[in-house]
Amino acid sequence: MEVFVGLDIGGTKIMVAAADREGHELRRVRTATATTLEEDLANLNRMITEVTADNEIKGMGAAIGGPLDWEQGIVSPLHQPAWRNIPLKEIMESKWGCPFRVDVDTNVAAVGEYRWGGVAAPRFLYLTLSTGMGGGFLVDGKIYRGQDGAHPEVGHQSVPFRCANPATVQCECGAPDCLEALVSGNGIRRVYGKPAEELNAAEWEEVAYNLGQGLRNMAALYAPDLIRLGGGVAVGGGERFIEAARRVMEEHLKLVPAPRVELSRLGYDTALRGAIAMALPENL
Ligand SMILES: [Zn+2]
Repeated sequence: MEVFVGLDIGGTKIMVAAADREGHELRRVRTATATTLEEDLANLNRMITEVTADNEIKGMGAAIGGPLDWEQGIVSPLHQPAWRNIPLKEIMESKWGCPFRVDVDTNVAAVGEYRWGGVAAPRFLYLTLSTGMGGGFLVDGKIYRGQDGAHPEVGHQSVPFRCANPATVQCECGAPDCLEALVSGNGIRRVYGKPAEELNAAEWEEVAYNLGQGLRNMAALYAPDLIRLGGGVAVGGGERFIEAARRVMEEHLKLVPAPRVELSRLGYDTALRGAIAMALPENL
């Protein structure tokens, strides 16, 4: 049997799944991210062997944090210091003898949501609100890329924000007013001194307001048909949070039609499902 493999290489965990030609998942395993590159690569190879058994691997897709060179498949995920300038495509293709494609996790998540989340929108923006914050923009299902393949960093846009403790707003990129510093898991922890799941109603409202201002900017610039949000903070905040942010967006958005704003249908699985989609023949 022919199988297709998806890898989700994150800062805290690694997930590997095998699927058939239609993308139906056959087997999935996960492990904690290690502290050395050698250990991570050994784990990846062991997990690939485990999920694929003796089947023939026809393609592999991977999601990992940026920055990376998607054409060469060289990765340097910011939050994984052990991984610097790693020629992952070359390593995996020579080890497994199948085509390998890697992309920034938020792009891969966008592909996953588009392919498996029932998205028919020609201009589709997917946002991940987890430890950090990022997005992927698809036009007719194809990843939009910037200059020299650069990944647009929607988390690092400036927004007019509401915050009871403005001095605590500080983005990891160095800027004092990024959206990511206000609505990501790490940002919320810094601003409110606790994880997102412990926020009270007033604090959620503040986060929703700030997210809404970011949505408004993105709607004004991309004019998408649909925005979907996934990741721990979005899923944790749920429909009420997304709806509150959508209202702020709509209230402040002029001239450009308001896109639909929805919660991800895949929840936490989006990047892994996207990695599988990228491994399939039509996407490789
Ligand atoms: Zn920033």
